[in-house]
Amino acid sequence: MTQRVPILVYHHVYPDDEAARAGAAAGIIGVTEFDRQMQYLLCREWTVVTTSRVIDWLRRKGELPQRACVLHFDNGWLDTYTVVEPRLRELGISATSFPITSGVVAASGGTGLCVRTLTEGSIEKPFMTWQLLRQLAEAGWEIGAHTHTHCKVADQHDREGDAGVLREVEQSDQLFREHLGFVPEHFAYPSGSRSDRTDAVLRERYQSLRLWRWDWPIQWFFTDRATSRWAIACQNIDSRVGFEQFERIFHESANLS
Ligand SMILES: [Zn+2]
Repeated sequence: MTQRVPILVYHHVYPDDEAARAGAAAGIIGVTEFDRQMQYLLCREWTVVTTSRVIDWLRRKGELPQRACVLHFDNGWLDTYTVVEPRLRELGISATSFPITSGVVAASGGTGLCVRTLTEGSIEKPFMTWQLLRQLAEAGWEIGAHTHTHCKVADQHDREGDAGVLREVEQSDQLFREHLGFVPEHFAYPSGSRSDRTDAVLRERYQSLRLWRWDWPIQWFFTDRATSRWAIACQNIDSRVGFEQFERIFHESANLS
């Protein structure tokens, strides 16, 4: 019997009026819908575990509750701290944040930064500062790596080879070391852009590599015991994902548990 572990990837959780203004946008979800999803997990007795616990399980170094899932918040947007953290703290849940370090540097210096994302194109939005990331870590969140500039890593490799990829992750790791006192163990590919060669480069530095997909119509991809820790599958969640679709993730996972 194969246990499936849903790994839910969020980008923005906005107050409902802001989310409504954004429409059915990729990467954005309103807070009421987010609360409903979290209540669903708790009511159905799903346990939110850390990324590290899932990776240990894949490495046969630890066990998981039978209904285990993981929450990821990508890019390090400010609303991860202002909107998400207080709600999850109240529910006794912690998650993993994968910040774009150039955005954190800009926010910490009091400026904005324009980054390219697959979900929203080129945008400038507020990021968390180092101080806020430190508070997340102290609250029990894991902090993962997501490159310095949110480059598409396979494209970066095409342009500049191994050295171009290494520069992105060395810069990011160095900043984490300097400001948080540790280097992240887990890496999430920006926009899901990867190749066998980028995997080989990044495996030297991290304990896991997470993919990301954004298919429409929605297709779900699951992490299970046979999943390689170098190709962690996840589900992107935003306002285009209806509640029935959300429930489907857990039905399909629980059936196999
Ligand atoms: Zn990203």
